[in-house]
Amino acid sequence: MEFKKEDENYIYSVIGKNIKKYRKLKGWTQEKLAEEINYSLSFISGIESEYHQTFSLGALWRISQILGVDLAKLCEDASKPHNIKYITYRCSSCGLENKMPIEVIKHYEEIYKIAGNKNLPTFNCTNCDGELKPANPMEF
Ligand SMILES: [Zn+2]
Repeated sequence: MEFKKEDENYIYSVIGKNIKKYRKLKGWTQEKLAEEINYSLSFISGIESEYHQTFSLGALWRISQILGVDLAKLCEDASKPHNIKYITYRCSSCGLENKMPIEVIKHYEEIYKIAGNKNLPTFNCTNCDGELKPANPMEF
């Protein structure tokens, strides 16, 4: 199933395919991934199916950590590899930089707005306890 980029289903579909790809690269079954991450099998199979289910940034983060794959990699559209824009995020404590796909940022920005939070989404630093923030908010 193909989704238009304006449709938020698009990013769930891309991420679901990537989770499946990287899970298989590790030689893991859906059962194994569910067990490792302590989520239900139906949740994992839901994420990977074309009738994807929604999931939180926290869940996506945990999956990226347990698969050992950058969050950004999970958001790459394999069918359009050169079509992705990234925003540079920098840790306010240690200065670590990480590129985040703009599709994902925009998606979470929408959720933040619905929740009444006007700030841009931030992420946990992979290197320290700091917070990754957009290095240049004007890029948005
Ligand atoms: Zn840091």
